[in-house]
Amino acid sequence: SDVPGIELNNGATIPQLGFGVFQIDPSDTADTVQQAFDAGYRHIDTAQMYGNEAEVGEAIAKSGLPRDELWITTKCNNSNHGYDDAQRALDESLQKLGLDRVDLYLIHWPLPGKDLYVETWKGFEKAHADGKARTIGVSNFQPHHLDRLLEETDTVPAINQIELHPHMQQAALRSYHERHGIRTEAWSPIGQGRGLLDAPELGEIAQAHGKSPAQVVLRWHIQIGNIIFPKSVTPERIRENMAIFDFELTHEDMQKIEGMEKAERLGPDPDKFD
Ligand code: NAD
Repeated sequence: SDVPGIELNNGATIPQLGFGVFQIDPSDTADTVQQAFDAGYRHIDTAQMYGNEAEVGEAIAKSGLPRDELWITTKCNNSNHGYDDAQRALDESLQKLGLDRVDLYLIHWPLPGKDLYVETWKGFEKAHADGKARTIGVSNFQPHHLDRLLEETDTVPAINQIELHPHMQQAALRSYHERHGIRTEAWSPIGQGRGLLDAPELGEIAQAHGKSPAQVVLRWHIQIGNIIFPKSVTPERIRENMAIFDFELTHEDMQKIEGMEKAERLGPDPDKFD
């Protein structure tokens, strides 16, 4: 496949482009994931919260694809923080997915008000040692949450999955990640397909390359080193979002997109979300 691999701090290699299944109805999930496999995706991003792990598992089983060609990520739900609960929740996820290990297990949100994420992370370290999660990471962590994991535990997260798109570029977190060997995953990479894709800057760049605005934004992520998993239930778009490895944005294109920063979140502020 054309999808580059990104090497993580534990030596594992993750496909830089995958397929996200947030808000895909469970009744559509198995078919949609099958379409993604047919289009060449091998990396699926799900979560306990999404309620469709069993249907992702159904698609994996039906696909007949070798397990070692797939990268499967799930996330510990907010109700499952704590050393024991985080591990128990992973066991349930594995059962639903029909797998004996996931490739990546993430703490979905830090929930600073509960203040259990350090204990949860120690549970993740145990799940990794037990072979149930090949790689462990976090999501929606701010630098001060990451600081505590670095100070109070033995494992640097391999990944932090954060909201990131041209209107919310997360320069400070990205440079923190770089300093500590953490890779950045960008959620809502095309801004959930709303306002962002109508920006005139993107239209101009897209026209110059004979690509769509969504493809331009996805290519921007690839060129700055982000790991992405755009979501779609439309077969043409599923294929379109994969067709980003046959062109390159120029330095000027990249600078134009960098100029689109608005520090504008679509989702919650992780420090205010419990
Ligand atoms: P996204 O940026 O991937 O946008 C998806 C939407 O964009 C689709 O529903 C569709 O309406 C539109 N779209 C898709 N392809 C298009 C195309 N080629 N042209 C025009 N419009 C197109 O948003 P997302 O689903 O929120 O994010 C992707 C994935 O990130 C999720 O599925 C999930 O796996 C993950 N995620 C994680 C968190 C977290 O807290 N960790 C939060 C949100 C999303």
